[in-house]
Amino acid sequence: MDTSYVILGASLAGAKAAEALREEGFDGPVVLVGDEPERPYERPPLSKGYLQGGTEREKIFVHPADWYAGHGVDLRLGTTATAIDLGARTVTLSDGSRIGWAKLLLATGSAPRRIPVPGGDRPEALYLRRVGDSERLRAAFRPGARIVVVGAGWIGLEAAAAARAAGCEVTVLETLELPLLRVLGREVAQVFADLHAAHGVDLRFGVQVSELTAEGVRLGDGTLVPADAVVVGVGISPNTALAEAAGLEVSNGVRTDQHLRTSHPDVFAAGDVANAFHPLYGKPIRVEHWANALNQPKVAAASMLGRDAVYDRVPYFFTDQYDLGMEYTGYAEPGGYDRMVFRGDVAAREFIAFWLAGGRVVAGMNVNVWDVTDPIRDLVRSGREVDAAALTDPGVPLEELAKPL
Ligand SMILES: Cc1cc2nc3c(=O)[nH]c(=O)nc-3n(C[C@H](O)[C@H](O)[C@H](O)COP(=O)(O)OP(=O)(O)OC[C@H]3O[C@@H](n4cnc5c(N)ncnc54)[C@H](O)[C@@H]3O)c2cc1C
Repeated sequence: MDTSYVILGASLAGAKAAEALREEGFDGPVVLVGDEPERPYERPPLSKGYLQGGTEREKIFVHPADWYAGHGVDLRLGTTATAIDLGARTVTLSDGSRIGWAKLLLATGSAPRRIPVPGGDRPEALYLRRVGDSERLRAAFRPGARIVVVGAGWIGLEAAAAARAAGCEVTVLETLELPLLRVLGREVAQVFADLHAAHGVDLRFGVQVSELTAEGVRLGDGTLVPADAVVVGVGISPNTALAEAAGLEVSNGVRTDQHLRTSHPDVFAAGDVANAFHPLYGKPIRVEHWANALNQPKVAAASMLGRDAVYDRVPYFFTDQYDLGMEYTGYAEPGGYDRMVFRGDVAAREFIAFWLAGGRVVAGMNVNVWDVTDPIRDLVRSGREVDAAALTDPGVPLEELAKPL
């Protein structure tokens, strides 16, 4: 039988899995297959420092160029995995070759959803996922250019901030009444709306986009919003086609257990593509964030090596927009909380927001307040009821509230 450990998808999760396999002492063949021409890189800078020109290209990569050969990782770039045969334990590649595997990791991530309107595939519609996309946006963000952003999610808002920093005129179009409304709820969503308004962005909520044209964006009421370039950020979908065709269980991503094992005992999944059972929440969750793609591979690699490893980290993500930096720790679904409380000065955009369910903190977000993610995570993990008045009182250290009783 082939002894290779094969990883499909050469981005953050794939590269970290190769690293973890070597750190865990695996000395057999490791093959890392990626369809992009670049070696694995991180995506957060593509809508922040790299897009704005401050971060050098060399800084975005997960490992130095010689790391892969140096660690005996057979990196196949510009190569798409086109089929997985679970019975024969092979993967077919776009060059027509077939490789065998003893263990397989799916780290195929996700891809931007196309906007389902006429013109959604026009070359003027800029989607942001890959380094080349970021470079195209940067070229379009010339001073005075009219940039229309469709979708006020994280990508859209970060792109809007970068476009403003480049001196563009920016309009953001959003179907809902506020940005990030489903993720953050009304109070915190308003903070992001105010932030962008204060930086001169023309925010238009409750609008429908009906067409992208060479002149701009046509709205449902017929209005044309003129644009030199349109950035579309309407969400992403996990890249599950391969897994589905192979017959693996797929539902909102590739389903795995808490060891990141899929419905096949020798096939694993990690990163954006994995809908992994989370012991803290008692159900599968799919997390589309950097920290998840960074940390899940350690567990996947250990599981591939037959060790008993469980992924139970509290979800975490961050964003930077203008002078606002924030970190979000936890998991508060719409309808998954019944109360919000705040510590600090919301109007000054220097605060911590807590989402509570039945008196327990399910998520916390620190905005321009630092070094508090550990106690927030401990509070979430403890599942303990906390006194809301103590949460709002800056005189009560969060560590005190998070301490085991
Ligand atoms: C612009 C941008 C900004 C972001 N900013 C933040 C942020 O501020 N904070 C945060 O927490 N998260 C952020 N994220 C999210 C974060 O980058 C992702 O969660 C992370 O990239 C997921 O890593 P991954 O390795 O699981 O998947 P991906 O990064 O999607 O990589 C999957 C790789 O697999 C390849 N692939 C897919 N199918 C095949 C196949 N059949 N054969 C070969 N290769 C294949 C893909 O092309 C890709 O290279 C951002 C994402 C983007 C796009």
